[in-house]
Amino acid sequence: MKFLFLDIYKKSSSRISKDTAGGYGTENSLGDGVLGKSISWIVKNSVFWPNLSFMQLIEEFEIRGNECIYLKHIGVKEKVSGKWDAIFVCSSIVCFETEIESINNILECTSVPIFLCGTVAGHLKEKVPKGIIILSGNYEFFPETLEKENKKLGDIIDHEIIRVQNGDTEKLQLINWKRKGLPKTKNWFLGGGKPFFPFIATRGCPYSCFEYCTYPLSQGRKILPEKHSSVVEKFKILSNKYGKAHIVFRDPVFSINIKQAKLLLKSIGDANLNIDFTAELHLKNIDDEFIDLCKHAKISWLKFGIESAIESVRNSVNRYSIANDDQSRIINKIRKAKIKTVGMFILAQPEDTVDTCNATIDYACKLNLDLAQFSIFTPYPGTPYFNKNKTKINVSIYQDFNQYGLVYDHAEISKKMARDLLEKSYRKFLISKFTRLNF
Ligand code: SF4
Repeated sequence: MKFLFLDIYKKSSSRISKDTAGGYGTENSLGDGVLGKSISWIVKNSVFWPNLSFMQLIEEFEIRGNECIYLKHIGVKEKVSGKWDAIFVCSSIVCFETEIESINNILECTSVPIFLCGTVAGHLKEKVPKGIIILSGNYEFFPETLEKENKKLGDIIDHEIIRVQNGDTEKLQLINWKRKGLPKTKNWFLGGGKPFFPFIATRGCPYSCFEYCTYPLSQGRKILPEKHSSVVEKFKILSNKYGKAHIVFRDPVFSINIKQAKLLLKSIGDANLNIDFTAELHLKNIDDEFIDLCKHAKISWLKFGIESAIESVRNSVNRYSIANDDQSRIINKIRKAKIKTVGMFILAQPEDTVDTCNATIDYACKLNLDLAQFSIFTPYPGTPYFNKNKTKINVSIYQDFNQYGLVYDHAEISKKMARDLLEKSYRKFLISKFTRLNF
């Protein structure tokens, strides 16, 4: 069969990622002043990779003998030419209305089954045109699920929504990042000019911050790991094919099962690969041995969410966290191992005030991080927080849920104040970095 995989993006002067925020996507619009706009431009031109589940779905259909074409569209295209047996569209919140408008245009010229891929579409299904099949959850396992249930695509086209929970991670193919039609994947911040590829070894997160986080919504609260031996075999291929590549682990929490994570790090290090890595973890579940093994495996960057300097702000949205003193101590240990650090912070959280946001910005500057990422609290459809606070949502376009603008009525902070705080956070962090440099 011949399938089209459409990846539709709205026009934007900022980088759009459909892989972040559990596949809901983000738009890195980092401020409205000269500095914010300049950094946004740099990020847009330095970082790109598409949604991993979507790319994996292509591989899984292809290995089963189907012809798969990937197309990236910017803006709404009137026509989709060619004869297709099905069209798969990568769904996100950050480009939602553009994707739906494109689908409506496609529906005018074809009657082939259209699958809208992504958990977010399942939570906005009243906006999805009739007849479109939503694929949600870990939908990269969809072809395997069909196979197991002895079904063909034609058997399920009357479904409104199909939630794919899991499958055999070891059977997943290595993604071909040099696929025709796919723009070059890149991340100049973490990998410099090296070939850059994202990779997911463990899906799912059981932590309490599912109150506002979309990863457990999309991937589940149960952890689904790939065996370390299978992961290392894939890295050996990448290392041989693209020497000196940089791999970013896209696991929601790389260290979620510390025993397994240590085993993986040891195996990667022992394989003596010609690639290095970034991983995102939680400061609560790592120890000295883990940091040593990161070094052994050539992990060059570690990313972690800190979210807020204020404990009560973190607690109000059930953030799974550790005390500030412990954060600072662990970060210093990581830096001592010569591994670079990225801290992630969320401003304008429900219990925040301007003062607490300023305290978070100051705290980020003091932590001796190599990079900091600031965003604005976003109640995403489908999360418990959103369900309890629907009446506070003050935007009518889902594309505005981009994690860099305030989309809900905040008791203390206006939309403009939130954007100003965002710009200020980057300005202050950059100044703190420069004043620490010895010229
Ligand atoms: S630790 Fe919290 S914020 Fe991070 S992926 Fe898990 S639920 Fe989401």
